[in-house]
Amino acid sequence: MLRLGHQAHLALVGHAYDGLPNEACGLLIGPFGAHAEPTGRISEARPCRNADASAVTYTVDPRDMLAAMRAAKTRGEEIVGVWHSHTHTDPYPSPTDVRQAVDPAWLYVLVSLRDLAPMLRAYRIRDGKIAEVAVVLEHD
Ligand SMILES: [Zn+2]
Repeated sequence: MLRLGHQAHLALVGHAYDGLPNEACGLLIGPFGAHAEPTGRISEARPCRNADASAVTYTVDPRDMLAAMRAAKTRGEEIVGVWHSHTHTDPYPSPTDVRQAVDPAWLYVLVSLRDLAPMLRAYRIRDGKIAEVAVVLEHD
């Protein structure tokens, strides 16, 4: 389960709109629990630059990745996932997204801006298989 606080949710969706017409991306920071799995609680949804500057693909800027890793470490947390936007398609991982999904522990969050209201979904991607994860929006 992904537990997203109000501030993290706003940061994530806001960054998705700010990135238009390109895909926007960012990293999710939170604690790991037992079995080297994220607990699902997100302490920060950290906006990053899309190094691809593309409307159809994304790559988290390596400098932003490094800064996020450092920020996580200082809090005793980890990067537990990544999010990106789809500007005109479903909030569902594309074949490219699946190929790029290298960390089986991570949460993969998609925000679709296709409709008037943003649609947010979360997934685990393991061995090329996509499994949806429940999302709970919480008050901070
Ligand atoms: Zn995608």
